[in-house]
Amino acid sequence: MKCLKCGAEAEKSTTTSVTDLGGCLVIVRNVPCYKCSECNEIYYTGDVVEKLEKIIETTRKAMEDISVVDYAKVA
Ligand SMILES: [Zn+2]
Repeated sequence: MKCLKCGAEAEKSTTTSVTDLGGCLVIVRNVPCYKCSECNEIYYTGDVVEKLEKIIETTRKAMEDISVVDYAKVA
């Protein structure tokens, strides 16, 4: 596929996706993507975007199941 920014050829690659959920970061490694050979712009295909959203949603819910206690407030 072609890069939408500069028109150069974007090649298959993998990247690390970092999503800021406010209180925490969700980091997903080895996400398949297309990377521009010129400007390093990253593109995800539709199904990868969908899967990433599911992973982030699952992770967010899992994290809500973990109780975080502030020592200073309870001690
Ligand atoms: Zn580019």
